[in-house]
Amino acid sequence: NVDQPLLRADQLSFSYGAVCALREVSIVVDTGEAVCVIGPNGAGKSTLARIVGGLARPASGTVRLAGAPLPSRSWKAVTAGVASVLEGRRLFPDLSVRVNLEMGAYSLRLDAAELDRRIERVLALFPALRERIGYRASLLSGGEQQMVAIGRALISEPKLLVLDEPTMGLSPKNSVIVFEALSRLRDEGLALLLIEQNASLALRLSDRGYALRQGQVAHHGTAAQLAEDGLVREIYLGA
Ligand code: ATP
Repeated sequence: NVDQPLLRADQLSFSYGAVCALREVSIVVDTGEAVCVIGPNGAGKSTLARIVGGLARPASGTVRLAGAPLPSRSWKAVTAGVASVLEGRRLFPDLSVRVNLEMGAYSLRLDAAELDRRIERVLALFPALRERIGYRASLLSGGEQQMVAIGRALISEPKLLVLDEPTMGLSPKNSVIVFEALSRLRDEGLALLLIEQNASLALRLSDRGYALRQGQVAHHGTAAQLAEDGLVREIYLGA
């Protein structure tokens, strides 16, 4: 449905036992839009990423993709057009880079030529992976592993890419490589939902943003509005 936003998460709540991680959080991502979710440790960002990626079911609230309910179970979400890169990367350490990339499309049953074409696109985006394609994933540096994790998500050619702290633990050089790749993907029209603790970096890449605090949306607006907001600067940007 063209009148519906690409992603509409409405009134999501989630608790871990007695700990309320999300309280009636609503966010929207339009087609081709880059949206960030910023907030301090424990604000509920990862929980939101897991729900939108189809890895956790909210206690209440709904997630819709172009108007249709997002199926939970990550592989069904992938089929519906949402791919995620979650915290910890979760590669198969003993399998090759190529097989790790192929896993991103395993629920899609692509033929070999199509798979080759998509792997080639990932290698064009992350040329450093080209000479590592036959290596076991565990032999790669942290930055290269993150490139594989992003590449694996891209293999399904999603409409929305969800990223939870994609630069966590990376060197400044690798963080720049990852952010430049995300910026290229955004320019090619891929919608991004970027969860980041590094708010200033995230706002630079994004059209709009939401600031979470204690499981609730405390501020939202265009990236420029958030970057200029005094309170946001104080709380989230450490200014
Ligand atoms: P971080 O950047 O530290 O990952 P976050 O903003 O991503 O923080 P969440 O990881 O979503 O926040 O956590 C939200 C709240 O839920 C926090 O209070 C956290 O301690 C709690 N929480 C998260 N995971 C669990 C869990 N498995 N069991 C119990 N409580 C949890």
